[in-house]
Amino acid sequence: MKSMYDKFKLAGKIAGNALKYGISIIDEGVSYIEVAEKVESYILKNAKIAFPVNISVNSIAAHYTPNPEDKYIFRRGDVVKLDVGAHVNGYIGDTAATVEIGSNEYEKLIEASKMALENAISIVKAGVKVADISKEIEKTINSYGYRPIRNLQGHSIEQYKLHAGLSIPNHAYNGREVLKEGDVVAIEPFATNGEGYVIDDGKSNIYQVIRKSQAASDFIRHFGSLPFAERWIYRHGLSKIKLNFMVRKGIIHSYNILIEAKGGMVSQREHTIMVTTDGCEVLTE
Ligand code: MN
Ligand code: MN
Repeated sequence: MKSMYDKFKLAGKIAGNALKYGISIIDEGVSYIEVAEKVESYILKNAKIAFPVNISVNSIAAHYTPNPEDKYIFRRGDVVKLDVGAHVNGYIGDTAATVEIGSNEYEKLIEASKMALENAISIVKAGVKVADISKEIEKTINSYGYRPIRNLQGHSIEQYKLHAGLSIPNHAYNGREVLKEGDVVAIEPFATNGEGYVIDDGKSNIYQVIRKSQAASDFIRHFGSLPFAERWIYRHGLSKIKLNFMVRKGIIHSYNILIEAKGGMVSQREHTIMVTTDGCEVLTE
C-alpha cells in the first residue's frame, strides 16, 4: 500500500515527464489535437489524467483543449503554453511550461515566468507567508519589464481536488495565509507584455461536474470531480446534447478560454511542490 506521499511523488513524476514529452513534439506544422492526444496517452500508461491537456497559444493564457475536429496547427513564432496534469488515486501533479516555435522573440518573456517560479520555490518552507511568495513572483516578473497576470493564481491540491481552497496569487497582496509542512501546492506564474489580467474568450471544450446529481451520474462515474474534455465524452457514449443540458441546469461547469485583456503575449511556468520544514520538494520535475 503506497502512502499519500508516494502517490503525489509518482503523479508528479509522470506529469513532469509527460510535459517534457509534450514540449518535445510541439513543432511547426504539428496539430494541437495530435499533441493533446499523445500527451494524454503518455500519462495513461502509468497514471490517470487529472485534467485535459491545455494548449494555450500566444495571447491565450489558459483553458484551451482541442476537440476531435480541431483544425489548429502550430506555426513558427507561436508562444505555446502546455499545461499537463496526472493523478494516482486522486493525488495530482500539475505542471506547465512555455515554448516558442522556431524563433526567440519572446525569450525574455518566457524566462520571466520561469525565473519567477524558481525564485518563488527558493523561499518556500514551512511557515512562509503566501504573500511573500506572491511578492517574489511579481518582483521577478517586473524585473524583466513585464506584468504578472493578476487574476490567475497557484493553488493548493488535495486528493481529487485540483483547486483545494488556498490560492497563491501572482501579484503582491495583503494576506496572512501560511504554508505548513506537508502542504502540496501548485505555483504558476504567468507573465505578459499586456495589461496583466485575463478575460473570457468563448468556450474551451473543458467541463467539470460541480454539483452531485443523479442526473449527472454517468459523467460523475467517468470523470468524478475532475475537469474533463468534450472529446472524452464520446468514448463513453455520452452526448453533447446531454452535456449541454447539464450545463444549463448548473450541474456541470463549462470553462471559458482565458485571453489576455489587451491581447498581450503570455508565458507560464508551473510546478507542484510539497512543503517541508526547511524548503520544499518539487514533485513535477
Ligand atoms: Mn496547470
Ligand atoms: Mn495549476
